[in-house]
Amino acid sequence: MSTSVILQSLQDIHDTILQHESEIESLDRAIGDGDHYINMKRGAAAIVEMRDELASLTPDAALHKIGLKLLSTIGGASGPLLASFFMGMAKVLKEKNDTSTKTYALAFTSGVDLIRQRGKADLGEKTMLDVLMPVADQLVALANAGTNNKTICEALIATAEAGMHSTKNLIATKGRAAGLGERAIGHIDPGAKSCQLMINAVCNVLLKNE
Ligand code: ADP
Ligand code: MG
Repeated sequence: MSTSVILQSLQDIHDTILQHESEIESLDRAIGDGDHYINMKRGAAAIVEMRDELASLTPDAALHKIGLKLLSTIGGASGPLLASFFMGMAKVLKEKNDTSTKTYALAFTSGVDLIRQRGKADLGEKTMLDVLMPVADQLVALANAGTNNKTICEALIATAEAGMHSTKNLIATKGRAAGLGERAIGHIDPGAKSCQLMINAVCNVLLKNE
């Protein structure tokens, strides 16, 4: 994955967030405080504005810079968590110094692990991790098996969607929705929805570049 593919992915993430404004907003209004869309839009817009500055960087340097930017632009719980994700990815890419699918799988997992550490959360707590953890596990398994990128992308799109839907019937034990108890049941987690949209956008860019 080159820096130009990363930049195209970020543009498409920005566009898909904007296209799903009312859905993301109403999910956070139902079980949070209603600001998740604003947070995501602010972060996505700030990254798109950095386009020229990022274009000349290596993928690891670009992802590190994106993480720093997200830390200073997105508020709420999701800002520092997503910033950790990008910085975790950047660190592994820098250490490994290659852009193979296996290395990206490792980097993605490392980013997700940082979210887990920072948020002290795990699978099944009705957060973004219910999308990110199954996607990370599947990405590593398929990359290690030497699966082609098209098959990997199609599988990840489906897994992200299943993870997002899985949050609907969960009780939240982390984040703002944790105070709602059973009243959170029946609502998809907003962070899970935005992560599913982001994974869908990145996979579709990769499929187009196949
Ligand atoms: P806030 O909750 O501070 O208003 P946002 O609305 O931007 O921030 O983000 C809410 C999302 O953040 C939730 O839907 C959930 O997916 C995610 N989240 C919240 N707390 C955690 C946590 N401890 N670990 C992982 N994800 C979390
Ligand atoms: Mg919120």
